[in-house]
Amino acid sequence: MTSAGSAIRVALPLPIRQTFTYALPDATPVPDPGVRVRVPFGERALTGVVMPGEPDPAPGAPREILEVLDAEPVCPPELLATAERVARRCFAATGEVLRSALPARLPATGAIRYRITERGALAGSASVGPAERSILEMLAAGETRRVVELPGDGAVRRDALRSLEERGFVRAVSTGREAARRVELAYETKVPAGEDRDARIARSRRGRDVLEHLDALGRPATAAEIREATGAGPAVLKRLTELGLLRRFEQDRREIPAPARGVPSPHPATEAQAAAIDRIAAAIRDRRFFPALLQGVTGSGKTEVYLRAIRLALDAGRGAVWLVPEIALTPVFARELSRQFGPLAAVLHSALSDRERADAWDRVRRGEARAVIGPRSAAFAPVADPGLFVVDEEQDASYKQRESPRYDARDVVALRAKENGAALILGSATPSMEAWHAAEAGRLERLVLPERIAGRPLPEVRIVDLRRQPARPDEKGVPLFSAALLERLEEVFARGEQAILLQPRRGFAPFLLCRECGEDFGCRRCSVSRTVHEKGRRLVCHYCGERSPAPLRCPECGGGVLEAVGAGTERVAERFSERFPGVPCAVLDRDTARRRGGADAVVDAVRTGAVQCLIGTQMVAKGHDFPNVTAVGVLSADTLLNFPDFRAAEKTFQLLAQVAGRSGRGDARGTVHVQTFHPEHPAIRRAAVHDVDGFARAELEFRRAFFYPPFAELAAILVSSADRDRAEAAAAQVGKGLRGGPEGLRISGPAPAPLERLQGKWRFQILLRAADRRLLLAALEAAVPERPPAQVQIAVDVDPQDLM
Ligand code: ADP
Ligand code: ZN
Repeated sequence: MTSAGSAIRVALPLPIRQTFTYALPDATPVPDPGVRVRVPFGERALTGVVMPGEPDPAPGAPREILEVLDAEPVCPPELLATAERVARRCFAATGEVLRSALPARLPATGAIRYRITERGALAGSASVGPAERSILEMLAAGETRRVVELPGDGAVRRDALRSLEERGFVRAVSTGREAARRVELAYETKVPAGEDRDARIARSRRGRDVLEHLDALGRPATAAEIREATGAGPAVLKRLTELGLLRRFEQDRREIPAPARGVPSPHPATEAQAAAIDRIAAAIRDRRFFPALLQGVTGSGKTEVYLRAIRLALDAGRGAVWLVPEIALTPVFARELSRQFGPLAAVLHSALSDRERADAWDRVRRGEARAVIGPRSAAFAPVADPGLFVVDEEQDASYKQRESPRYDARDVVALRAKENGAALILGSATPSMEAWHAAEAGRLERLVLPERIAGRPLPEVRIVDLRRQPARPDEKGVPLFSAALLERLEEVFARGEQAILLQPRRGFAPFLLCRECGEDFGCRRCSVSRTVHEKGRRLVCHYCGERSPAPLRCPECGGGVLEAVGAGTERVAERFSERFPGVPCAVLDRDTARRRGGADAVVDAVRTGAVQCLIGTQMVAKGHDFPNVTAVGVLSADTLLNFPDFRAAEKTFQLLAQVAGRSGRGDARGTVHVQTFHPEHPAIRRAAVHDVDGFARAELEFRRAFFYPPFAELAAILVSSADRDRAEAAAAQVGKGLRGGPEGLRISGPAPAPLERLQGKWRFQILLRAADRRLLLAALEAAVPERPPAQVQIAVDVDPQDLM
């Protein structure tokens, strides 16, 4: 700690790509990098993070910080450096990256609070000045207050406090971490196991799991513990409490039990697994950066490799981070991690409360937990000395954040792995073109698991040419179920097996059409048609959420023939029930997942067999393991294919491969029917024969020829405004700046974005491509103004995952 009066460098959560310089009040010890501070910014007070390094010289005298929030850093130095590099790479502000990385509500444990003393309470008002008096008045009730909560501001308040303290009228107390959190919420069972209890839980498998877990544990457990053990979230606990089966109460916080190790998987590793693990083990031991692509079809034992590698990292005294895509549906891996590593595991679900997230962060930062699993933001987990980073399903688009800061978790862990001499395992059955190309170029070592465990065959995939299918009169030439698919479904249901039907659109129908004038009832704020919901009763914009009752007559021409065109999941379910009246089905999409019990309830019902046919959007394709599903039908493979995006083919291929992986996971061989109007498209043809490498080679040829990633670095600049002319003019300005920029750039646009209007804003897009990231960033730096013109927003997405 250096002397008083120094300046510090602070990262603030603002869309301004710089750090800020602040002064420390006299006698304030210099806080360590990674400590949070409250600072004045304009009229506001913001929370920032102290950064390492010299502060930039400020133009005038820097303002003083208001308060130091933490007694020790909330973030290790390695992460601060990573955040700065990530920010630079994605053209964002370090403070915004740190805001994404840190839990939203990390308690301030180092903030100093003031309490009035007896002497202060008795002090006559004549003996103190006005500033001092108002402070004493506020403290008179006896509660402690933080500096920023006291009346007055800046130097006046501080001087008053110091004078009060010197005279013994107030005393500084620091809030200990422990004082803040001594109790926790816990649950215990109220009703012993038995028929009555079973009757009350009815069909809820999760409910039963929770009660059985508590019975077996023989003591109350916290919500976090219950979730780690059973996967049941707050909705289940709430329901059980309401049913009178659980009691909820506050208990004293227990000591964290000593690390107990669970058991590793009982199987000996296969030859291919062993080979991969050997390479990873050597890297972890030698503290060597080892980036690798673990390529293996679904069911080839990748998860097993991750778990063994994590064990190796922990045994070497190092930490591990395991990233999984954002699928709220599969806490399966998390449970396995907890089972195998007990309290050394930390699970970051997307459903955690702020408080649970903050607790998990603290446990990891203090080194109590060293194996972390979670979605995108877990890339920043403050694991000390990480020896391993795993990215499962590395091709998944959810690793890229769509809002500012638009960072990519794969980038984050790659930087950290390099920095820490760690293994980086990118796992996938269908690698992204980036990873596949990097492996080809030798920048990733390729580890291959060539076949499914126990030699189980991959499902047989049949392509169904929709052009040759007779359609019902109301289907307008687009049949929902082909004859081949219907025949297969009959067979599957007759055998008591299950099926999954994928329809990539939710709602009843993609749009409503007036048969007389062609009016299509688009959104008034967005340039898209509104989706028909609730069997035609409602129109909903999927982009801005605007909803209204569907009209009975066309407001334009008065015509009365309004027709819902096409089919979403809701309509598919309706038509399915007409065709298979005795077969119970359920829908899984964003709409049903939002409802109470939502996704969990649907997944449970499929697992118990209560639902025989699962109908849904992309959500049905990911991760599930339903051994009795033997048929998958892709009702339309063309939705994604027709997207105006250079990744359309890649995404289609990956989706088909993924949904195919849901079929035939048990003993019976599965089938997949892919219905399409483009049966010759390579993405569909190659997916049908599980030809990952063939697809990648052909796709990479296309990317190379048209200078797209991974051969180019790409950035999308989106200029938007409620005023179309302003947006267009600002976009033209940026375009001009880019054209006057360095050599070697390829600039497309400005042009109206594919989604030209969104939430009432007009949008123009410029695509920028360069051979390397540095050139790209330099061009952005030169042409994109730090402050956009009035009423205009400019967003820069480096390496965008979608171009709408
Ligand atoms: P992936 O992650 O590639 O889809 P998993 O790791 O989940 O594959 O493995 C698929 C199944 O095979 C799981 O049920 C797993 O327990 C089992 N399994 C994995 N490795 C082995 C092994 N070496 N011997 C026997 N079974 C294994
Ligand atoms: Zn809209």
